Amino acid sequence: MEDSRQRADNTTEAGNTAEFRFYAELNDFLPPNQRFAAITYAFNGSPSVKDAVEALGVPHPEVDLILANGVSVGFGYHLVPGDRIAVYPVFEGLDITPIVRLRERPLREPRFVADGHLGKLTRRLRMLGFDVLYHRDFEDIEIVRASVHEHRAILTRDRGLLKHSAVTHGYWVRSTNAAEQTREVLQRFDLWAQVRPFSRCTACNGEIVAVAKAEIEDELAPLTRRYYDEFFRCTSCRRIYWEGSHYRRMRALAEELSRPPGADLEAPALLGASSYPEPSPLPGPPAVPDPPAVPGPPVVPAPPAVPRPAAVPRSPVVPAPPAVPAPPAVPEPPVVPGPPVVPGPPAVPRPPAVPRPPTAADHSSN
Ligand SMILES: [Zn+2]
Repeated sequence: MEDSRQRADNTTEAGNTAEFRFYAELNDFLPPNQRFAAITYAFNGSPSVKDAVEALGVPHPEVDLILANGVSVGFGYHLVPGDRIAVYPVFEGLDITPIVRLRERPLREPRFVADGHLGKLTRRLRMLGFDVLYHRDFEDIEIVRASVHEHRAILTRDRGLLKHSAVTHGYWVRSTNAAEQTREVLQRFDLWAQVRPFSRCTACNGEIVAVAKAEIEDELAPLTRRYYDEFFRCTSCRRIYWEGSHYRRMRALAEELSRPPGADLEAPALLGASSYPEPSPLPGPPAVPDPPAVPGPPVVPAPPAVPRPAAVPRSPVVPAPPAVPAPPAVPEPPVVPGPPVVPGPPAVPRPPAVPRPPTAADHSSN
């Protein structure tokens, strides 16, 4: 590598090699012995820098900037012997606005298409308000097509998919954990400020809008109708959402997922959002009328507690509390054995349980 660097400084003596350096997370694609090091790349003819980058293992959609001998170049740049090539990932913490990025524009309205293995990531991103196209049975070619025609960045665990020549925007998801994957995507595409929790249907990716209760009242279960007044509806699949009982948990999850690294206390765009609905899946057909809201059979009062036999007077020796030793200086008076315990009154039957609003099936567990 030292040799190649010397050659690179003097192009007239160089053979058909170029020196590549990959920055930041692009090193994830390299074999361990090539990471964060100068790589000598041997070539014949004058291949494009895009082909060279991919031959070294890095899918081109992961790349946002290439410098050839300090000058920004496009993917179509052809290598010249002795070139020094620096390759930067998308949104690496480097201000490259004054120079040319490889893409005409970043994805200002980020939209995604996810491969069939990323269902959990898809639901989380949708929960945060992002547009993610997903089908479990998507073929690679369908994903590429959606990416090209609908300007969607591909999210995939298959780096080979990103090497498809038609793909311009994509990200190889590193983690296999859905929460970590979500953070990866937010970080990579710099989405922290665009989080809009509960603005998108987690089931179908449709947008959610507020809907008047009167419009949907006859589709609600009685208890939901009784306890909630604010409703939202997916404009696509018509699913109804409301701020149900696990709303807080969902909010907490959304805040956790969308908290930028280093921002321990703040989460953008999550506060003051009283109108964010909770996705409360209505699994069954919503129009089935529930039986009238007659309270269930009254709770049978528990039988009165059997009076316990009088307690045997305890030993006056008070055993020391196991965890907190009493201060030794103040001896506690021995406990005087009390009178036999008078049997208490029979237990008062508990009132019938207040019916809770139906809790939708756990929507965040996967
Ligand atoms: Zn929907």
